[in-house]
Amino acid sequence: MIETKRFYIDGSWVDSQDGREHVVIDPSTEEEAVAIMLAGPRDVDAAVAAAKAALPGWSATDPKERRAVVERILAQYRRRERDFAQAISLEMGAPIDFALSEQAPAFSWHLENFLTAFDGIEWLRPLGPQAPRTRISQEPIGVVGLITPWNWPGNQIALKVIPALLAGCTSVLKPSEQAPLSAVVVAEMLEAAGVPPGVFNMIQGDGAGAGTRLSTHPDVEMISFTGSTRAGRAITVAAADSFKRVTLELGGKGANLVFADADAKAVERGVRDVMDNTGQSCNAPSRMLVERPLYEQAVEIARGVAEATRVGPASERGPHIGPVVNARQWEHVQGLIQKGIEEGARLVAGGPGRPEHLNRGFFVRPTVFADVQPGMSIERIEVFGPVLAMMPFDTEEEALRIANDTDYGLTNYVQTQDEARRHRLARQLKSGMVEMNGVSRGRGAPFGGTKASGRAREGGTWGIEEFLEVKAISGW
Ligand code: NAD
Repeated sequence: MIETKRFYIDGSWVDSQDGREHVVIDPSTEEEAVAIMLAGPRDVDAAVAAAKAALPGWSATDPKERRAVVERILAQYRRRERDFAQAISLEMGAPIDFALSEQAPAFSWHLENFLTAFDGIEWLRPLGPQAPRTRISQEPIGVVGLITPWNWPGNQIALKVIPALLAGCTSVLKPSEQAPLSAVVVAEMLEAAGVPPGVFNMIQGDGAGAGTRLSTHPDVEMISFTGSTRAGRAITVAAADSFKRVTLELGGKGANLVFADADAKAVERGVRDVMDNTGQSCNAPSRMLVERPLYEQAVEIARGVAEATRVGPASERGPHIGPVVNARQWEHVQGLIQKGIEEGARLVAGGPGRPEHLNRGFFVRPTVFADVQPGMSIERIEVFGPVLAMMPFDTEEEALRIANDTDYGLTNYVQTQDEARRHRLARQLKSGMVEMNGVSRGRGAPFGGTKASGRAREGGTWGIEEFLEVKAISGW
């Protein structure tokens, strides 16, 4: 078992003062994998105090200095990429090749995009010709608490730690207690890159303990959170007394509108996008709405793709999918598969239990349900597993109504060759992102949602501005 029980506070690796031990279970083997300490209140306070002490110096640095630090972090990443991928693979079960090709590189991708966006930020600018003596200043908000999930751990840490640094904020990162190892590698990279003591601090901890302490801490100005809608709501309430800025990236239940004139690969692509990362992506297109003339053919394609999706341990090389993250998540996914059957959806592929060749590990059978009705549990609840819900539609209006009739609003997807229809739907779908015909968002585009998916925007310029306060200065 790997032991990593120290926190990174004020530029040093320190022992916990009042924490308790926690063991992370390897989702592929169900064996004990990593022992950490969950921070107690004194640990959290020490990390916040270090960030507070470092704030005046760091917030006053020349932006060029902050840019140089992030360039050095990028160089460290190039050296540590393999360690980083291995950490992610072990802690949350991503197959090692997927961790190397997708999970880990998401970190450097965001760094590069942030550096591009950073050069365009106007720290102090005139308001406009109508007010020659008014200036608009953008200033770091202060000490920030960064709370991240386990499903894309490196990606989420990059989306918070780096813009906080660039904005001139000092931070305390609390990664998911399920994904502590990748955060240790990040802290080591930042240490090696020469981030000054106290500017970045990392504690391990759970939501009820360290997460709540951070969200209520009087010296923390902002919480940037990615995770479940449940925790996002709890943090919003906890942070209200101290008027913190709270930015939330929460769950999703994306609709994928596949019209009869969709490109030949559209259905296959949509199924793969749900299975990737074992369905554990907030932006998974987990509801596939198919125009009636294509529907039965699409169901057959989905069956084929699901049945061809191999499932196996994270340590095995190859393009298979891994387990879901832990026993609780396995129970949640199994419960929803069972509900799908009981509520009358047609089981096309997969189903309850583990794949036949695996008798331990939190593995799930790649599952497809057809004839799903609006309002069924698998249509409304985020599964966060390799489970696709398919339903037919007859008109564009009906598809739009079903797509928008959800608590969530993260990403919706459209597949059609009809440009006018694409443009219409892109405007009418209620979500922070719309992805059409398999074209992914460009570098520096904002990532975020509406409604119960949260209302933050991460990445690029928007992602940096979330950590800035706008000040209007007159009489300049
Ligand atoms: P989670 O909410 O259980 O945990 C996320 C983080 O919040 C962890 O660090 C956890 O310790 C902490 N936390 C939990 N309760 C807290 C509380 N009351 N106060 C403070 N902190 C608390 O979520 P998870 O299971 O780690 O992640 C899966 C969820 O994250 C899914 O719903 C997924 O859709 C969502 N997600 C969203 C995005 C996005 O950008 N929209 C990205 C990735 C994941």
